[in-house]
Amino acid sequence: MRLLVLPGDGIGPEIMAATLEVLDSVSARFALGLKFVHDMVGHASLARHGTTVREELIDEAKRCAGIVLGPTATFEFKDPSKGEVNPSMFFRKRLDLYANIRPNRTFPNLPNKLGPFDLVIARENTEGFYADRNMEAGGGEILVTPDVAISLRRITRQCSERIADAAFRLAMARRKRVTIVHKANVLKVTDGLFIESCRRVAANYPEVIVDDELIDAMVAHIVRRPSRFDVIVTSNMYGDILSDLTAELAGSLGLGASINSGTDYGMAQASHGSAPDIAGKDIANPFSLVLSAGLLLGWLGQRHGSRRLLDAARAIETGVEAAIATGETTRDLGGALGTGAVGHSLARRIAEAVPA
Ligand code: NAD
Repeated sequence: MRLLVLPGDGIGPEIMAATLEVLDSVSARFALGLKFVHDMVGHASLARHGTTVREELIDEAKRCAGIVLGPTATFEFKDPSKGEVNPSMFFRKRLDLYANIRPNRTFPNLPNKLGPFDLVIARENTEGFYADRNMEAGGGEILVTPDVAISLRRITRQCSERIADAAFRLAMARRKRVTIVHKANVLKVTDGLFIESCRRVAANYPEVIVDDELIDAMVAHIVRRPSRFDVIVTSNMYGDILSDLTAELAGSLGLGASINSGTDYGMAQASHGSAPDIAGKDIANPFSLVLSAGLLLGWLGQRHGSRRLLDAARAIETGVEAAIATGETTRDLGGALGTGAVGHSLARRIAEAVPA
């Protein structure tokens, strides 16, 4: 089973090295036979190939079982005509990875002022306010005059219904609650269509309790009592913003894991960026990408009906939980280890764990 490995920029190479060590460890323990296909995106690719992401990576991704993508310095990529393309967008759009699933939960032994919570954000990944994936040709942002700019947001019934369906399927395996997050009091047509699409899908899942919240109020509700929420379904930008909040409330943005998935392909990706402020210092928390890789193994396990992949995914999750409980973490979680040392200790813990 081959995984395409793309470390990215900033802290990307550091958290990727730790993630690969953990993947090697679960691969040996559960006889997964994981093989890594190493390539590059972001600044390294721009310098070597004149573009931040190469077309042939799509073919390579299709030959692999999944992708593990590190964060990239997307804010610095301004001009696609100079090869400065957002690699996340490239894979999400080209492989139709419409569901960005971002689970966030608290861990025992990690101080948390808001009490325990366990929620998942199902974020639509292929349209919304993200100008680079909205249009067949051209961008969704227009500079009308040097002083007037317009941004177009596309919301479609098809994309809203498929993310809603992903959210309801998730809820059926959890606490059977879905909250639709929107701003339909102002964006009556677009967010109105989003809610209507989600409610139509809800009719197929009568066991699931559904409510909805405005995005602004939702931020207050989450900070007030996050345990109220199970699965949150929302459009692209709201989901992006909310999930940084919920990761930080769980303990650190460095716990922000995610999987981007569609019908045929899956891509593990931390929900944060390239963190240039801490890059190269061996202090970034690798758990975001490690847990994302675990989500990818779980997704592959369900797809292929493989007990070993599902067990490997579970071993990553329980390994991280045990590491947090014993303080073998980076400093954002109160520990004293570096990024590399966290990777070594988690890989060792998984290798030495007594089989269940
Ligand atoms: P960021 O998410 O990189 O960092 C925000 C804060 O969280 C920083 O203080 C950072 O040090 C901290 N942080 C992030 N990841 C951490 C980790 N694993 N461990 C400990 N602390 C962590 O946001 P930013 O600084 O606004 O963006 C930096 C670059 O990343 C920009 O170019 C932005 O466009 C890009 N970006 C990329 C992605 C992606 O590739 N998916 C996502 C978001 C932002």
